[in-house]
Amino acid sequence: MSSTSLTIRALHDKLISSEITSRQLTESFLQEIGATNDALNIYLTICRDEALAMADAADRRIEKGDADILTGIPLALKDIFLSEGVRTTCGSQILENFIAPYDSTAVARLKERGAVLLGKLNMDEFAMGSSNENSAFGAARNPWDTSCVTGGSSGGSAAAVAARMAMATLGTDTGGSIRQPASHCGVVGLKPTYGRVSRYGVIAYASSLDQVGPMTRSVEDCAIMLGAIAGYDPLDSTSIDTLVPDYCAGLIGDIKGVRIGLPKEYFVDGLDPEVKRVIDATIATYTDLGAQMVEVSLPHTDYAVACYYLIATAEASSNLARYDGVRFGKRVDKGDGLIEMYRQSRAAGFGAEVKRRIMLGTYALSSGYYDAYYLKAQKVRTLIRQDFLAAFEKVDVILTPVAPTPAFPLGEKTNDPLQMYLSDIFTIPANLAGTCAMSLPAGFSDAGLPIGQQLIGKPFAEASLLKIGHAFEQVTDWHSRQAPNCGGTI
Ligand code: GLN
Repeated sequence: MSSTSLTIRALHDKLISSEITSRQLTESFLQEIGATNDALNIYLTICRDEALAMADAADRRIEKGDADILTGIPLALKDIFLSEGVRTTCGSQILENFIAPYDSTAVARLKERGAVLLGKLNMDEFAMGSSNENSAFGAARNPWDTSCVTGGSSGGSAAAVAARMAMATLGTDTGGSIRQPASHCGVVGLKPTYGRVSRYGVIAYASSLDQVGPMTRSVEDCAIMLGAIAGYDPLDSTSIDTLVPDYCAGLIGDIKGVRIGLPKEYFVDGLDPEVKRVIDATIATYTDLGAQMVEVSLPHTDYAVACYYLIATAEASSNLARYDGVRFGKRVDKGDGLIEMYRQSRAAGFGAEVKRRIMLGTYALSSGYYDAYYLKAQKVRTLIRQDFLAAFEKVDVILTPVAPTPAFPLGEKTNDPLQMYLSDIFTIPANLAGTCAMSLPAGFSDAGLPIGQQLIGKPFAEASLLKIGHAFEQVTDWHSRQAPNCGGTI
């Protein structure tokens, strides 16, 4: 395994010193994407002309001396982010030819900084899934082993970073969709606190859980990306108007005396032995760095998956009502009247998992069942949040595995939705609690597949996650190893 890849800061220095231009950089990324995308199925849309125009604009800005750290840096987006004039499918047939009419706020902020956007990345349809196999355009492949899944739903976003087919990407995380694929592909992925990053222009799955976040090669890159997209947005009423700290400045310093909580409910028998070995080694590394391990309890953990699948499907059934064949997306109209047109468009446009969730959610919200399911789930959600707030009175962060196993073979869980849902058992609680959490590379399985660790932080304490993760990266090299099926060389 080689470890030659550059970070955003290293590349920025090369751009500023004219060692390389953004056009050269962008051309070489586009060339490598062209050469390997057929094998890995990571990009759904490659924005060649737009990317080169952005690169030229970035080069002019660098020449004038007003470059930002992201100016001229090639990035890519999960295909859930609206980006003006570009096809945005959300991994679904129903939006196959949908051209976004405006930019999502996160995309607009990256553009303002002069970043180059290479294209749109594969994902599970409407972000529902844990393996990218629910994409209407075929699964992305894991660059560490192409017979394995990337994880999901932001599978293309994780794989693009791992395969060096973008410097960094954006994903979304409703129940683990940034962190689980980050773990499976050996990259860093951060789900910010609910409200930290605007959701405006991001296709909605479950609006009370969805959050936008970066996927990167290193924790420092993650700090740079988060700094660029975080902050209040009047266009998203759930975004919070609170100060965005300087995440990069906050990385400095040691972590002596930091209290790391180990929730006893997450370290139960039955945890995959390789995941356990990696997490044990991670605990040892943090102990060597001077952190203090404290056992904590999150007693309602057992209810998290059930609670999530009631709330997420209920919200999804409502959010997805807008795809009716009238306003945008696919229309199937055989002349049998309006209701039939709705029915046929939705039947043809949505995949099996999306239909399953719409039905589950509609059921949970129907009169007579609302109190028993949806309302009950909301109450359990409050209990789960209270568990975290109580634990955070004793500790600064919580350390857990990200996923119960390393990346699994393609096809292994496609016929067993329940097994697939259990992939998110360790990531869902942070979404229900609304707090921030990060996945970062922590080791490898015997078969050479990456395994991540999860750090969960207090609400709006992304800076502590980044600082602790950065300290870990200074004494380990898991994050800089390169996947064997690497699309790029930079
Ligand atoms: N895998 C989970 C689901 O299918 C989480 C997805 C996500 O975070 N978008 O709902």
